[in-house]
This record gives sequence, structure tokens and C-alpha cells, in this order.
Amino acid sequence: MTREPLEQSRKLVTELPGPKARQLREQLETYVPKAVSPSTPAFVARAEGGIVEDVDGNRLIDLGAGIAVTTVGASHPKVVEAVKAQVEDFTHTCFMVTPYESYAQLAQKLDEIVPISGQTRTVLLNSGAEAVENAVKVARAYTGKQAIAAFDNAYHGRTTLTMGLTAKNMPYKDSFGPFASELYRVPGSYPFRDGLPGEEAAARTIEALEIQIGANNLAAVIMEPIQGEGGFIEPAVGFLAKVVDWCNANGVLFIADEVQTGFVRTGTWFASEAQGIEPDLITMAKGIAGGMPLSAVTGRAELMDSVHAGGLGGTYGGNPVAVAAGLASIAVMEEENLAAKALRIEEIITEHFAAVQQDDARVGEIRGRGAMMAVEFVDPETKAPLADLVNEVAVAARKQGVITLTAGTYGNVLRFLPPVVIGEDLLKEGLSVITDILAETRTQNRQTIDA
Ligand SMILES: *Cc1c(COP(=O)(O)O)cnc(C)c1O
Repeated sequence: MTREPLEQSRKLVTELPGPKARQLREQLETYVPKAVSPSTPAFVARAEGGIVEDVDGNRLIDLGAGIAVTTVGASHPKVVEAVKAQVEDFTHTCFMVTPYESYAQLAQKLDEIVPISGQTRTVLLNSGAEAVENAVKVARAYTGKQAIAAFDNAYHGRTTLTMGLTAKNMPYKDSFGPFASELYRVPGSYPFRDGLPGEEAAARTIEALEIQIGANNLAAVIMEPIQGEGGFIEPAVGFLAKVVDWCNANGVLFIADEVQTGFVRTGTWFASEAQGIEPDLITMAKGIAGGMPLSAVTGRAELMDSVHAGGLGGTYGGNPVAVAAGLASIAVMEEENLAAKALRIEEIITEHFAAVQQDDARVGEIRGRGAMMAVEFVDPETKAPLADLVNEVAVAARKQGVITLTAGTYGNVLRFLPPVVIGEDLLKEGLSVITDILAETRTQNRQTIDA
């Protein structure tokens, strides 16, 4: 039995939240701690392409893709088919106990698409944070060193180790210490705020690495090629290349955390390609498996093989259902040329906000790559971050049926991570809803000033 496809249009039949969503919210607040607090005033019934349909029959435009996960959509027919077939065969054996072919197939596919030359090997895990933890384990085992350096504005997860690598205190770290030891933070490159050319920013980073840690103690430097939670910050041209060169020359491994940027999100398989760098290890998750929980660490064979037999793994790592979804998702990305689609999304979002910027100076910077785009809002005179504005716009957009995410160290960034399969008209409509709200906040401000 085939289901009716979900109509790809926005439609509000109740206010948001609707009556059913309101009831479910009560239940949620009774049984789920407020520490886990969903931002959209709707409960999902179905999702497909660029649309999320809620339990009250409203259809919302999805500009978040469950935080860059459902690149191929939340129920791509090919992924659904692969998952169903796998579930019927077997749901789990534990790869460490009884292996299956698809795990190695996926590892082979990753070897083909990652920007690491030579033979790679891959370990499959469940979440982005778990991938980062395992990359750190490999780096320490291979180098025999302990220190790990991460950057200002970094996000690497919420587990005990990765919390220490993540930069921002609220909400990720506050009251959760102590953090793991031998984790260091160094300045990176944030062109909009530091104004430094790549070479200069890299020199500052390298000085910090040498003075505060020392290459002989440093196992690895980890960085997102475009910082995600930090506000889609792309380092200045030349920054990453120079840092990676320094790593290579000093026996320090470079880990690219591509958990958010990977799998055509930024218009290439991985964002490292566009930066012209070759990492030693790559961590991936989010877009890899069309919504199924799966993550991976891929690295040069020599590095991955430095870990003793049995040293890496986990009960669910590389679960066969998630792996089937991963293989199907990657095939969809190839068949539907989603890398090109992501670049088209970049064009649409850039054009849209460039027009808005003409008469709204609060649009400080439009940045990002592919279907990972952000707009940073600032006071036009002082560049002070306008976090309240961004929050107000996001809340209003969600009420009007557009799922909108915020980000940024200062909370003043609207970020766009639509499913890459989203229709162009739907994307444009979502953007218009947001910029209409933005225009309203301007008139309100003017009125306050005039009054
Ligand atoms: C989301 C994210 C993580 C953490 O992934 P989880 O699956 O939430 O553990 C790590 N690194 C980056 C760059 C991310 O965007």
C-alpha cells in the first residue's frame, strides 16, 4: 500500500499550538524534564520533503531539517524501503558479535567520498558526540600524547568529554562540571568580528598552541570547517590550511568535525574540500542516514589501526537498520545530485537576504555555504549582537508555520538548514514569512523611537 505523498505547501488550520498540541504539551511537561524543551509549538504527525505536518493538521515549512539531519527529507521513499527491508531481515546482532556486510559497504563508500587520500578505515557509532569521543581516543592512541585543542565558538557535543570541547557555557555546560582534563581552547577565525585575514588569525592560533600547550603534548586539533552552533562561522581564507600545515609539520593530528557540515550540506560531500584541507580524521553524523541515529569516524588506516583489537565499538554502533538508511541516503544524494541542489539553496538564501540588507542595516552578515546558511543580526553602529530580535523573529516564524532555528555564541544568528530536497517555492515562502516579521519589528522600533 503506497501512501499519499504529503502535500508540499504551508497550511495553518488552527493557531499554533493547536488544541491537540496544547494537550500533548501538558503531558510532555508532566513527564519530560524542562531541560529538554522543544522550540516548535507543534507535535509532528508526519514529515516529508520540506514539510512537517502536525497532529492538528497544520503543515509547517521545515527550515531546520531536525538540525541538519534530514538532508534527503524525513521519509525519502528509498530510505523507507531500505529500512523496511532491513527490519524484516534483522534489527540487530551487534556488529562486534556477529558482523554483517552492510557495515563494511558503508565504510567502503565513506572511503570513496571523504577528502582523505590513501586507504581509510571507518568505525561506526551512534551520535556525533560519540564520534568525537572516538576520534579523540584514536588520536591519543596513535600519538601517545594527551592534549586536545578546540576553538572559540566550537561545538562538539554534550557528553563529558565533548562538553569540555564545546565553547559555550549556557545551555551546554553550566553546572555540569568538572570537565575532562587535557582539553584546551584557542582563538580561531571569525572574520566578521575579528577582521583578521586567515594568515594572521592562524598565526595567533599557532602561537597559542605553542605557548599554552606545546606540540610535544598535543595529540590533535579539532575543528568544524564551518562552526555550526557557534553561528555558521567560516574561517577566513587560508586559516585552516595554515593550521593544518602546522599540525602536519609538528606531529599533531587534525580532526575535522564534519558532523553538521558533511554529506552535501555545504555543496560538496564535506566542507573540508572547499577549504582545501586534508584532515587526518573526520567525524560525521547528522546528515549521514536520513534521520536514523548513526555516526562515523573515518581516518587514515595507519591511525585507525593504532588502536588495539576490541578498543573501539559499542553495543549499537553501526546498527544494521541505521546503516541501511545510510547507504540509501548517500545513494539518494548521488542520484538526485543534492550537492548542486545545496548550492542552489545558497543562491536563493543569499539573494533573499541581500535584498533585505539593502534597507535593514541590522542584517550584519549573510554567510555560510550550500544549505547551511546564516544571518547575523547586529546593531548597525556598534555591531552589538541583537539576540532578542533573533529570538522574537524565530518565535513569531514558528507560530506562522515556519520551523526556524537560531544559533551563535551571542544567540544573534538565524540559521537555515532546510532539507536539501525542499522545493524552491516552499523555501522562498518560508524566507518571506521570516523577512515580513523582520520588517514588522522595524516598524515597531521606528514607532517607539518616534513616540
Ligand atoms: C551536532 C554536533 C555534534 C554532536 O552530535 P550529537 O549527535 O548531537 O551528539 C558534534 N559536532 C558538531 C559539529 C555538531 O554539529
